[in-house]
Amino acid sequence: MKKLVVAAAALSAMLAFADTFPAKPITIVVPFTAGGPTDRVARDLAEAMRKPLGGVSILVDNAAGAGGSIGANKVAKATPDGYTLLLHHIGMATMPTLVRNIPFKVESDFEYLGAVNDVPMTLIGRPSLPAKNYKELATWIEQNKGKINLGNAGIGSASHLCGLLYQNAVGVDMVTVPYKGTAPAMTDLIGGQIDFMCDQTTNTSGQIEAKKVIAYAVTTAKPLTTPALKDLPTLQASGLKGFEVTIWHGLYAPKGTPADVLVKLNGALKVALKDPEFIKKQEGLGAVVVSDKRVEPAEHKKFVAAEIAKWSPIIKAAGVYAD
Ligand code: ASP
Repeated sequence: MKKLVVAAAALSAMLAFADTFPAKPITIVVPFTAGGPTDRVARDLAEAMRKPLGGVSILVDNAAGAGGSIGANKVAKATPDGYTLLLHHIGMATMPTLVRNIPFKVESDFEYLGAVNDVPMTLIGRPSLPAKNYKELATWIEQNKGKINLGNAGIGSASHLCGLLYQNAVGVDMVTVPYKGTAPAMTDLIGGQIDFMCDQTTNTSGQIEAKKVIAYAVTTAKPLTTPALKDLPTLQASGLKGFEVTIWHGLYAPKGTPADVLVKLNGALKVALKDPEFIKKQEGLGAVVVSDKRVEPAEHKKFVAAEIAKWSPIIKAAGVYAD
């Protein structure tokens, strides 16, 4: 009897909790530096989710480092009450292979809330590189073997994945320079401290448009239509058969977050993904807001599992995983 009373009390506390959620600001953890591509998506998403969550403040916490695994771990270990969320990208699927010792489990330490967007990547170079198009770049790479620096956002990041697949495709090893995000890497690229980077269009389109970097190619199978990127060739059309990397972002909560709270958060995410302002901002940066079944938590989880299955053999075959 006593047990029953305790269980009933716990249940009613849970329901009351979901009823009042959110009663305080929510934090979205971004596992990379401020001002970078994932941060950008998070801040736009926070703005779009605010209204459907009753106008609550949604803060962004940049817990950057270790290719995105520090921030992901922070959320995996956070109190599962819906007030700490994670916005992460393809790293959720590639980290387990790229980084063999991550301190959390992608499949079982998170509640999946849904996918957010798909983002192409671009191969960009410092403004002083003598190569002005992809053909010239290919020659320059051949001539400068052993001297080329490639920036990325650390082991497990999207730029790490893309850069390594690119080195593998052209058969040239480059010196990798890791940052805590591609925002600081972009600063160094513009300043000429590094030669190259393969980075998300959400970070590169503005710099390409402003001619602060040289853009060589996009990593999608088809050319893009975004004004800043529409004249760029694909890497496939530039001779790298089958080269295709499109990354995505998803939203997650710590495992054990109450089901009712998850329903509320997923509902707010769905509203945000239909918000014309959010869609317009993302499209302007070359990203496509998700409108398919991946907005459902279970479907997003299936998708991430499929991405793990897709990328693990590619990463292993390329020999590009790291300790
Ligand atoms: N998403 C990272 C950032 O926001 C970049 C990357 O993964 O390459 O800086």
